Amino acid sequence: MKPIIYDYNLDQLQDWMKENGEPAFRGGQLFDWLYVKRVKSFEDMSNLPKPLREKLEESFQFVTLSEITRFESKDGTVKFLFGLHDNHAIETVIMRHDYGNSICVTTQVGCRIGCTFCASTLGGLKRNLTAGEIVAQVVTAQQMLDATGERVSSIVIMGSGEPFENYDATMTFLRIMIHEKGLNIGQRHITVSTSGIVPSMYKFTEENTQINLAISIHAPNDKLRSKLMPVNRRFPFEDVMAACRNHIAKTGRRITFEYALIGGVNDQAEHAQELADVLQGMLCHVNLIPVNHVPERNYVRTPRNDIFEFQRILEKNKINCTIRREQGHDIAAACGQLRAKHMESTTR
Ligand code: SF4
Repeated sequence: MKPIIYDYNLDQLQDWMKENGEPAFRGGQLFDWLYVKRVKSFEDMSNLPKPLREKLEESFQFVTLSEITRFESKDGTVKFLFGLHDNHAIETVIMRHDYGNSICVTTQVGCRIGCTFCASTLGGLKRNLTAGEIVAQVVTAQQMLDATGERVSSIVIMGSGEPFENYDATMTFLRIMIHEKGLNIGQRHITVSTSGIVPSMYKFTEENTQINLAISIHAPNDKLRSKLMPVNRRFPFEDVMAACRNHIAKTGRRITFEYALIGGVNDQAEHAQELADVLQGMLCHVNLIPVNHVPERNYVRTPRNDIFEFQRILEKNKINCTIRREQGHDIAAACGQLRAKHMESTTR
C-alpha cells in the first residue's frame, strides 16, 4: 500500500523532495496545497511540474477517508462515519459553537481501554490510526466548511481511542495541525484527552507545547475508578494525579478533568465532596458530562437536579466546573455508537 501523503510533516516532505532530486522548497509548495489550498488531488497542484505530480501520484495515496454516512443535527453538529482503506470505520464530529467550529477526532479504530460507559471499546482495539488518517479527518471537515467560508478553529482529541496509546501518530498529527504554514490551529485551541496513561502523560509534559491536557477521571477515588475504568488498575488514581500535578508545575497550564456522571454510581453528593477534596488547590477545571444512555451498558442518566447539585458542591469548594452542553442529541449517539451500529449491520 502506498503511504498516505498526510502522514508527512513539512520537514519530511522537504526531505522527500531532496531525495527525489527536487529543490526543498517544493516540499513547502506541496504542504501549502495540502493544508492552505486543500486540494483533493496531486493533479490540482498547478505550480508543481507535471513529472513531479506524476511521481507524487505513483508514490503516495491522497484520499484516505470515504464518507459512509453523515448525520446533521438541528444545532449544526455534523457527525461523520468514515470508511478506511481496510474497511474499518471511524467517527468524526464537527461541533458548532458561538466561538467557532470545533472538531472531535478519533485516534484508534476501537479502543482497548474498556471504560464501562463507552461504546467505542465494545469490540476492543482493531488498530491504531496513522498520523495521516487523523489529519485527514480535520482536512475533510475543513473542506466541507470551506463551502460556507467557515474554518475549524479548535480540535479536541476525544473521539474513539486512547491517543496516548498511539502517541507518536498523535504527536505528528498535532505538529501538522499547529504548523504556521498549514492549518495553523492555535495550540491553546487544541485539547488532547487521555484516560490516564501515566508514562505518556510525563512524556507529553516534556513536549513543552501550549496544547491543553484533559484527563478522563470519572471517579473521586481509586476503588470506584477501577470499577468504571479498568485502566486504573494499570495506572492507579494517585499516580494519575501525581502526573497531573507534575504537568501543572512544569507547564503552568490548567488541566481539565472530564467527569461522566452516571446515575447512582458516581454522581452522589459524597462523590462531589471527595472530588473537591482531591482537587483542592490544583490549577484545574472540571467538565461534568451527563452520560449518554449506551444500550449495551446498564447505566442510567443522572437526574437534572443532581447534576446541578454536583456542580454546586464543587463550586462551593472553589473548583471551577462546567456542565458539558449537549450537542447533536437529535442525531443520537454517544461516541462510538454510530460505528457500533455500522459494525452490527456489516457482520449480520
Ligand atoms: S472513553 Fe475513551 S479511553 Fe475509555 S474506552 Fe472509550 S474511547 Fe477508550
